Amino acid sequence: MRQLKFSQDFKTILDYPKIWTKEEIPDEVRAFIKNKSAQNIISDEKENYYCSKCLHVLDENLFCPNCEIKYEFNKYKDNLIYLGVPVDFENFYYENLYFVYDLNDNDLIFYVIKEEVSYYHELIYFPLKMSDVSILRAFYIKKDKLIDVTNHKEYTYEYLKKTRKVEDLDFVLINDYYQGFLYTANLELLKKTVYKYSKLWLAQKYLEEKTILASFLLYYALWEPSFEYLINNELYSLAFDDVYNLEYDDKMKSLLNKSCEYFNFIKNEELNARELEALKLCLKCDIDLIKFLGHNIYALEDLVNITKINFAKLYKYFKENNLGDDAMYEYYDYLKIAKRLGYNMKDKTILYPLNLKEAHDKVTSDYKKVYMPKIDKNIKKLSQKLKVNKYEEEKYIIYPAPSLNSLVEESKMQCNCVRTYADDYSQNNCQIYFLRDKKNIKKSLVTIEVRKGKVVQMRSKYNEMPSRELTTIIKNWEKRIVII
Ligand SMILES: [Zn+2]
Repeated sequence: MRQLKFSQDFKTILDYPKIWTKEEIPDEVRAFIKNKSAQNIISDEKENYYCSKCLHVLDENLFCPNCEIKYEFNKYKDNLIYLGVPVDFENFYYENLYFVYDLNDNDLIFYVIKEEVSYYHELIYFPLKMSDVSILRAFYIKKDKLIDVTNHKEYTYEYLKKTRKVEDLDFVLINDYYQGFLYTANLELLKKTVYKYSKLWLAQKYLEEKTILASFLLYYALWEPSFEYLINNELYSLAFDDVYNLEYDDKMKSLLNKSCEYFNFIKNEELNARELEALKLCLKCDIDLIKFLGHNIYALEDLVNITKINFAKLYKYFKENNLGDDAMYEYYDYLKIAKRLGYNMKDKTILYPLNLKEAHDKVTSDYKKVYMPKIDKNIKKLSQKLKVNKYEEEKYIIYPAPSLNSLVEESKMQCNCVRTYADDYSQNNCQIYFLRDKKNIKKSLVTIEVRKGKVVQMRSKYNEMPSRELTTIIKNWEKRIVII
């Protein structure tokens, strides 16, 4: 069945497939949603767990004595509804998203279905789970274009293989960070569609317990050349979480080869792209080490350029000195400056100082006296070029740090270490951008570090992660960064 509709300018008649109304959502899809929703576990700001049916506190075995239901975290904990606030059933509301592919004649539709859950009912004085399901969006999928049949908008886009980015001229689709569970019972229908090479149906088991970003299903499964290979080799978390971060060079290809001695380790531990880079560096099947290195991979790749690093020793040094995740940049920075100042990089007391912070501050102050004027000049020059990446929307603005002084001011306001990136920034090894509120442009909100067109760090005050709203803005901006 098809429906004829006028386009927005009423000049042409559009020929779109008919989509489900809210009432027409098939029973099996409703059952899937109900089942997924019943597995939700709610957690408050104190990380107490609650039954999502009656909001009763769960015991240590995740058992609800009220409903006599035993809950379980799924492997990825994607059934956890995390609230930053206490659970209050009168004002408590959350949404779940679900994705469904459907074939209508030969037209492929991708549904985004929204479930709204609330617990307050005027007539009842205890929490009662109420769930309302509706069609949020429905995309008619063409090879190089998506048509949202719910609002009759067409989105043409281009997948850029080199950067793994989606060039979406309207910036509408990629602004939507939809994440949800995919209905997997009918995935075989994709065999006859543009998705025939994606082999999505092979990942059914993985997809059953994992929420996925819609962009992976809509774009990456369709366009990313390595996607099929990853799916065929059951490297699902790479395919669905991280494929755009994967540097698919010859070395990586050999690591991901089934006959490679590391293959089973990669698959069983579900390494992400950063952890794979870490494995490439150290070639050790030690998951704690790989997680540590993977978390710090961008700093490490620079670190190995400064001096020869024994990764196991480095890990031990961090662990024994209780150095947190952010200390890696401080450490990198310290070593880099120490080398510039001509210290002996083979000396263990230089390589692993007893007090990293003190050692870092000492070399920084020595260094400032010598190099500052030169750095400032280079930053001013570079920031002019980086203005192509300036971004402005209604409320916020993102722009390149214009001078050394601006970096110093930023790090004073943010209490972070950005000042010490000045040298890297001045040499265009990294790029520093500020996100600010247009109404209060002098006040720092988020400091962003970009490398090779990708955001590698975004930090609010005291090195904290920015709010969800700002993170979304930055993630969207990231997709349009021009690499300079
Ligand atoms: Zn219950």
